[in-house]
Amino acid sequence: MDLAVIGAGPAGLTSGMYAGRFGLKAVVFDEKIAGGTVNLTPVVENYPGFESISGMELMEKMKKQAEKYCEIHEMGKIGKIKIDGGISIGTSKDDYKTKALVFASGTEKRKLNVKGEKGFLGRGVSYCATCDGPFFRNKKTVVVGGGNAAVIEALHLKNLGSDVSLIHRRNELRADKILQNQVFEKNINIIWDSVVEEIFGDKTVKGVRIKNVKNSSIKNIDVDSVFVSIGEKPNSGLAKSIGVKTDEKGYIVVDKNQRTNLQKIYAAGDVTGGLRQIVTACAEGAVAANSAYEDLL
Ligand code: NAP
Repeated sequence: MDLAVIGAGPAGLTSGMYAGRFGLKAVVFDEKIAGGTVNLTPVVENYPGFESISGMELMEKMKKQAEKYCEIHEMGKIGKIKIDGGISIGTSKDDYKTKALVFASGTEKRKLNVKGEKGFLGRGVSYCATCDGPFFRNKKTVVVGGGNAAVIEALHLKNLGSDVSLIHRRNELRADKILQNQVFEKNINIIWDSVVEEIFGDKTVKGVRIKNVKNSSIKNIDVDSVFVSIGEKPNSGLAKSIGVKTDEKGYIVVDKNQRTNLQKIYAAGDVTGGLRQIVTACAEGAVAANSAYEDLL
């Protein structure tokens, strides 16, 4: 193949689509199903052309469009990459040779790393309100975090009918102002200056122990579920393993044409940090494919 793309989120799918349209034989690999973390987003309101669309529906459309121009291999984790004149990649299903490679491997959800978080996963602890929100209609729920994702999750849970509070470690949200306003308009309770110290329960979650970071006071709140939405960390381990340069936070370093420090290896989307929006991921995916096309001429 000419171009292998690791990750079938917005960046990877766009990369595959552009590569195919340039006449390159491109394959987009994903260890899960196509769509990336956008699949977990209840609603997207800032992707041009769509006033409001669910993350999953948007990604289904992107996948369908990309499939016209490239192959998409889902559920196949890339376990190893070797650079030996060409580039060899091995998935859990097969081995491949490629002339160029794009890392569009995105990010994974950051964990709280507190007692109970792991043990109650799937029994009240969740990282995805789109997936698990419907189980907690009319129940008491907390969302942890103060960024766009946390606020969108809290709004989604509120719309589903949950009694939702947001727990944030500061006294100001990081989320975009328009989203903050929606939280205030919907009267979502915000527990400011607080961090979760423990998630407790019996068979399922029954509550969280929180600490006020300003006065160190501790209190327990009874809840049925905890949605953790405290940001992400880049999936750049595989890239690092072959010598791709990353910054101090682990994001892949690229130039303005999405080239990494290694020849014919590119990166695009959230794994490169920056604004981390669907629209920028798509743009970077297109630029990466164009750079690969130029370098393979
Ligand atoms: P984010 O913007 O990095 O926000 C993470 C939030 O979690 C911050 O409020 C942070 O607090 C808090 N936090 C981090 N570590 C914590 C910890 N250990 N304990 C408690 N709180 C912690 O992450 P995100 O909301 O997941 O968004 C990721 C990226 O995707 C962003 O670039 C975002 O703009 C983008 N995104 C955009 C949209 C949209 O535009 N519609 C939707 C979703 C995501 P501090 O504020 O104190 O740092």
